Amino acid sequence: MSSGNGAAMRETENHFDVVVVGGGIAGLQSALDLADQDYRVLVVEKQPSIGGRMISLSKVFPTLDCASCITTPKMSAAAHHSNITLMTYTTVDAIEPAGDNHRLTLTQMARYVDTSACIGCRQCEYVCPVEYPDPFEQGMGALRAISVPFANAIPQYAVLNPEYCIGCGACVRACASDAIRLDQQPKTLTVEAGAVVLATGFHLNSTSLKPQYNASRSKDIVSPLQVERLLAPHGPYGRVLRPSDGKIPDSVAFVLCAGSRDQSIGVPYCSRVCCMYSIKQAMLLSGALPTADITIYYMDIRAFGKGFEQFYQNAKAMGISFVKGKVARITPQPNGDLMARVEAIEEDGRVMENRHDLVVLAQGIVPELVSPERLGAAKEEDGFIRRPDPLRPAWTGREGIFVAGTAAGPKDIVDSIMEAGSAAMEASHYLTQKRATADANAPSLELEVIGAASE
Ligand SMILES: Cc1cc2nc3c(=O)[nH]c(=O)nc-3n(C[C@H](O)[C@H](O)[C@H](O)COP(=O)(O)OP(=O)(O)OC[C@H]3O[C@@H](n4cnc5c(N)ncnc54)[C@H](O)[C@@H]3O)c2cc1C
Ligand code: SF4
Ligand code: SF4
Repeated sequence: MSSGNGAAMRETENHFDVVVVGGGIAGLQSALDLADQDYRVLVVEKQPSIGGRMISLSKVFPTLDCASCITTPKMSAAAHHSNITLMTYTTVDAIEPAGDNHRLTLTQMARYVDTSACIGCRQCEYVCPVEYPDPFEQGMGALRAISVPFANAIPQYAVLNPEYCIGCGACVRACASDAIRLDQQPKTLTVEAGAVVLATGFHLNSTSLKPQYNASRSKDIVSPLQVERLLAPHGPYGRVLRPSDGKIPDSVAFVLCAGSRDQSIGVPYCSRVCCMYSIKQAMLLSGALPTADITIYYMDIRAFGKGFEQFYQNAKAMGISFVKGKVARITPQPNGDLMARVEAIEEDGRVMENRHDLVVLAQGIVPELVSPERLGAAKEEDGFIRRPDPLRPAWTGREGIFVAGTAAGPKDIVDSIMEAGSAAMEASHYLTQKRATADANAPSLELEVIGAASE
């Protein structure tokens, strides 16, 4: 068996103390905490690189520290830890009990690149004639059909996208390491683990759930993940501009709760981070676009964490306009303007029509894992992984299966990291107890030795 990634998995290696499902910040933290305690850990990540959502963020609230400066060292520490094996571009499809352990079924997708030969030199990428919308840049900018997924990806192996490849063979000829395998097939593998940490994370719900905001009719009605990339130092355009025509925006609006707290779309809960990341993005935009008007349309601002209220007050002091109002509709105009129809709650429901260049929809946070039952856990009514015991917040209620980060519900990075630590401690405690029980039940060697000596 070969992992094809990071620390290579040896042919015979199919048992680990712990398997961590998901290589986002929560999964990486759990893996590092466990590996530091000398447990042998396998991290399985379905994307071609570890890092999860956090590696694509610009800066983080409320400190405005650079996100990749925090994430990259954790990714690198996991990749270089002698007790951690990484498998990327691999999904965990099923987890079943196997005696005292868990058996995991994995699918390793075809990269079309032999990772034992690839050195990440990108020569294949430079000669590939085909480009497609860059997934890491949220569809803005372009990626070649074969490429290393992004600059600080770990591992640094190329991956070929068969949807766009035209089979010209230029990459094969350019690769001095003879690493490209156009006939590579996906593989199904099984591994066993003493314990499992589910850190499968989240995605944003579709803008189509709110047809009144017309996101499908304008490239300038954007997702907050696109704004993170526009603000990133090495983002798709190198500066903040309107995706449709490259205009520098002079009026930007944020629509909060544009996919949360709405029973009719199946997301009745608060997504917990949208108020804060929108305030963060508004502050960063006002730095990048000093003459632009920036408006946040909100129902309530939920600034509940340490330092959050001060952060909110700072944004107001910077001149960001907060309008308590219900955005009824966004209508793209033939000239590219976006008209927001807003019912101003604090002005007795007065209806305003405001013009903007760019509108950001704070979409709802929903679980990435649709069927936790397949991975040995149950789900709550909201779809996130169930945690039945409030005194053990990392326990799924299933023997040896723990949960960390946004897989259990929307939360920020600090809380995701704290839960990851808690999941690691629970898993460690569980494995220690299991070992103690096994030792207590093992036949006594001492008696045999005494018997042998008396002969
Ligand atoms: C626009 C935006 C801005 C934000 N800004 C901030 C901020 O400034 N500060 C802050 O504190 N928080 C912020 N957040 C929240 C932050 O992104 C999350 O708290 C954090 O990323 C959660 O990490 P995670 O590891 O739980 O999930 P993820 O980052 O989603 O990681 C989960 C990983 O699991 C993998 N995975 C899923 N299913 C499987 C499977 N079956 N097999 C294998 N792998 C699988 C996924 O590919 C993914 O890599 C922001 C969120 C958004 C949307
Ligand atoms: S596949 Fe070959 S050319 Fe492409 S990055 Fe790997 S070693 Fe370099
Ligand atoms: S074979 Fe495919 S991936 Fe390789 S250079 Fe041609 S189009 Fe690009």
